[in-house]
Amino acid sequence: MSTSSGSRKMATKVIHEGQHIDPQTGAVAPPIYQSSTFAFASVDQGAARFAGTEPGYIYTRMGNPTTAMLEANIAALEGGFGGLATATGMAAVTTSLLALLSKGEHMVGTSSVYGPSRVVVETHFSRFGIESSFVNTADLDEVRAAFRPNTKVLYVETPANPTISITDIAACAKIAHEHGALLVVDNTFASPILQHPIALGTDVVIHSMTKFINGHSDVVAGMIVPKTEETHKKIAAVLRLLGGTMDPHQSWLVLRGVKSLELRVLRSQENAMVVAKFLDEHPAVEWVRYPGLEDHPQYELGRKQMEGPGALISFGLKGGLAAGKKVLDHVQLATLAVSLGGIESLIQHPASMTHASMKPEDRIAAGITDGLVRLSVGCEHIDDILADLRQALATLG
Ligand SMILES: *Cc1c(COP(=O)(O)O)cnc(C)c1O
Repeated sequence: MSTSSGSRKMATKVIHEGQHIDPQTGAVAPPIYQSSTFAFASVDQGAARFAGTEPGYIYTRMGNPTTAMLEANIAALEGGFGGLATATGMAAVTTSLLALLSKGEHMVGTSSVYGPSRVVVETHFSRFGIESSFVNTADLDEVRAAFRPNTKVLYVETPANPTISITDIAACAKIAHEHGALLVVDNTFASPILQHPIALGTDVVIHSMTKFINGHSDVVAGMIVPKTEETHKKIAAVLRLLGGTMDPHQSWLVLRGVKSLELRVLRSQENAMVVAKFLDEHPAVEWVRYPGLEDHPQYELGRKQMEGPGALISFGLKGGLAAGKKVLDHVQLATLAVSLGGIESLIQHPASMTHASMKPEDRIAAGITDGLVRLSVGCEHIDDILADLRQALATLG
């Protein structure tokens, strides 16, 4: 009773793709195959599994039935060849880049990516002779200018963290392919519900499933979805050796979370639109950055490329950093914590938290000012979210 059907709608796919009723017991929920290793019926069968001539499981670092259900689910949502589940979102980032880049090669990335995604490349991959340039990928001229003869990967995060700036995926795919490079897109912020990078020409999609896909702030997890079998093979080989594989219990939790992905994303997006307008009109707020507001610099591109503006809002207060700190210290419903895409509203200060490891000059160049506050709007009732922000902003007097 496999339920793979390309024509079904997203709300259906998140619930059914990659999953089937357990043939032995009829269990509706997926079994957790909490086993590190899998028995062979004979020496010949073991040899055939290692040779890849017979399907089946060997050892959980190399593949696990519970994890395989999750991989099939997300691959179907993204329209890729297959999924590769990883222990964290960072394992998805590092594993794909290490699989696609070698010593003496170069990558171009979005300057305001998730802080650690940039730090690992600049501080650690550089130790192995991998070169990088991080530029404002929302400006296609900057992207073109950053390419070198040895550029093999264009790495784009859109919407980017935490400036919510939007990069043209189809245009970047064209630029990358003209230069013989692959396009890797971090689709964490939009989730597979709001953006389909592979349909726009992306070669590899990555996710921190810690965020929207799992959605309950109780698991760290990542996913890599290559578009082709060839790229899937290449990255799978490296993942199995580097070992950032997902544990079956973790896969089961994410399988549980993904079922409500569409409901959660749409509800938090609906809330975010109202919150963005509220902040935009509030006298203490200096600026608001949200792709659903017409003054967003890439408003039209966002409408063309995404199915909705999402649930992440950045804003700055007229009182700068001091005012931002005061508001963050006075919210009662929204939780002062990093991460995003949870069912609960989360608020944080990137310059001192998620992006603190970046060099201050790089942070400012990437648009991450000291006064920037990032809000991930959750699924609570909108009246309660607004009441909380109203009272926190009122402490500014
Ligand atoms: C959180 C995040 C990551 C890293 O994921 P972890 O699960 O924390 O390792 C990568 N990219 C983006 C956009 C993120 O928000």
